[in-house]
Amino acid sequence: MKYIDPHVHMVSRTTDDYQRMALAGCIAITEPAFWAGFDRSSAQGFFDYYRQLTEYEPRRAALFGIQHFTWLCINPKEADDPGFAREVIALIPDFLKCDNVLGIGEIGLNKNTKNEKIILEEQIALAEKYNQLVLVHTPHLEDKRKGTRLIMDALSASKIDPGRILIDHVEEHTVAEVLDRGFWAGMTLYPDTKMTPQRATDVIEMYGSERIWMNSAGDWGCSDPLAVPKARIEMSRRGHHMSLIDKVTLDNPRTFLSQSEKFVLKAE
Ligand SMILES: [Zn+2]
Repeated sequence: MKYIDPHVHMVSRTTDDYQRMALAGCIAITEPAFWAGFDRSSAQGFFDYYRQLTEYEPRRAALFGIQHFTWLCINPKEADDPGFAREVIALIPDFLKCDNVLGIGEIGLNKNTKNEKIILEEQIALAEKYNQLVLVHTPHLEDKRKGTRLIMDALSASKIDPGRILIDHVEEHTVAEVLDRGFWAGMTLYPDTKMTPQRATDVIEMYGSERIWMNSAGDWGCSDPLAVPKARIEMSRRGHHMSLIDKVTLDNPRTFLSQSEKFVLKAE
């Protein structure tokens, strides 16, 4: 079996995790830029992080036969100071030329503040200018529906085709609207909280398998880099056909990501 984990923060995982993912059938991952667990004190901190994502992690992944792709941005949690955020955004165009960069992400909102929204719009404009794919983070907990709508409105105001935008961290109460508006939807699987492999399987059963994928998040918090293969097992246990399981964990990610000419799988 083969699968793609299209949203996993490997900079916060051990090399053993790469090995376990490879053993479970992972052939490619995409790693969005995110909050490091602490606020960086200068734009230089982001410069080093972007180098890590474009130079070091691809080599670490390749040791296990996993292709590594990435997305660049300033994440919403550190985007509440527009002056600082603009200094960071100015670094991004040069890195967009790197072989493994697929687009801008994960952009979005955290606390739905006015400044976060301004920086979100500026990063959407950056994606539009450089014709990049977009990966979107939606806020967790009670603000999710409101935040998801604010983000979709900002995206719809741009000229970017919604088919080139994936909105991640959808849950039962946001997935239908995301799909209805023409975007792709991502389900981030967590071991206990938020979207579990069981709930993700429920969503596929309720809303179908078009324009939807699953990923593990695999960050420095409680998370499981094997969440996608575990969801495959859950779907199989419920009697779903292998073609459907492959569709949501391999074919759909490949279809969306292949809109970037840089996303070419070596294993096929
Ligand atoms: Zn993330």
